[in-house]
Amino acid sequence: MSNKGLVLILLTFCTLNTNLPLCGTAAGQDDGKIKIRLRTEQKNETVILKAATGKFIIKVFPGFGAEVEEGKSVAITLFGNRLACKVGDHKALVADSVIFSSTSAACRFTITAPGEKDERKTYTGSLSAYHDLNGLLLINECKTEDYIAGVVRAEGGPGKHPEYARTLALITRTYTERYFSKHLSDGYNLCDGTHCQVYNGITGDTMIINAVRSTSDKVITTPDSILIISAFHSNCGGETSPSEFVWLTSLPYLSKVTDTFCTSSRNAVWEKKLSVEEWTGALKTYGYEGHVNKPAPFVFSQPARVMNYTAGSFSVPFNLLRTTLGLRSSWFSVSADGDSLVLRGRGYGHGVGLCQEGALAMALKGYRYEDIIRFYYKGVVITDSRYARRPPEVKK
Ligand SMILES: [Zn+2]
Ligand SMILES: [Zn+2]
Repeated sequence: MSNKGLVLILLTFCTLNTNLPLCGTAAGQDDGKIKIRLRTEQKNETVILKAATGKFIIKVFPGFGAEVEEGKSVAITLFGNRLACKVGDHKALVADSVIFSSTSAACRFTITAPGEKDERKTYTGSLSAYHDLNGLLLINECKTEDYIAGVVRAEGGPGKHPEYARTLALITRTYTERYFSKHLSDGYNLCDGTHCQVYNGITGDTMIINAVRSTSDKVITTPDSILIISAFHSNCGGETSPSEFVWLTSLPYLSKVTDTFCTSSRNAVWEKKLSVEEWTGALKTYGYEGHVNKPAPFVFSQPARVMNYTAGSFSVPFNLLRTTLGLRSSWFSVSADGDSLVLRGRGYGHGVGLCQEGALAMALKGYRYEDIIRFYYKGVVITDSRYARRPPEVKK
């Protein structure tokens, strides 16, 4: 059959004049594929899709289909509450939706805004474009395992050690499975921003790709098969934080762990000097009403992690102070230095769950990924995703 004939048949089978995803698998149906919203944290008015490797087929609804040869581009722009699509030498078409699909598993495409040079982010599968209230809605459907490898690269950096990469692969797959329906009502599974998991396209890092393949389908669950919240952070400073210090919910697998593996790593300690005014300014955000301008009343020692900072009768969770002051962690002591205050802290990140620098140190010492995961997440089970369940409350 000619490709033109194929396009015609595809157009016939697809519903026309609708803003809902067309011809794809419904989000939420796990068939080894996933729908990711791309460029979530950018305001998209015009994007350029380029067939970087292989041939693509573009379908512009209603009523147009064409092939896009390797190296050729397509421009999609907002046009009122619809889209305008420019394909090669054809005049621009007004569309309700556009679908750009690869013709083989080897195909790669890039997506950029005009003037943007970064074409290093490459994607597989298909890209659907729609108009929504915030601009262009760009949904990439690709293989879930390709997506997981891309997230491991984006969240954990290049492959550093095979067991560390396997550890991150399980964490990422567990999140993906647990929150697979997070954006179901928006027409996709997960977004590519920090709201879900950062995804900057596929990766060519063979250590990461092999780590994802060699742990295929493995996830982390509680003993009763519930997919865990696979929280992680950069460095715990020597002690992870119980989940209730940060999210007010106590989970047995996110309890405190004493970690000697990360304490000589890059992000193990930090220090910050503040004026008393800067410190009391932060406290006032949480209701502090004093007018003290000497450092002594604010001194506080935190040799082990505690939930709240106290000064006299005033109290506030350390985690909130961390956010307000943009501190590297919530585990720090406050001491006086002349007329100023010095915060001496440990770790980097919220401190809950797996400590990345500790996990890497464990891998380098010869621990396997199962040991690393069970060290940071207490009492968990590593199992095949077929035997895992999402907790009933996880929808959005
Ligand atoms: Zn999201
Ligand atoms: Zn640690």
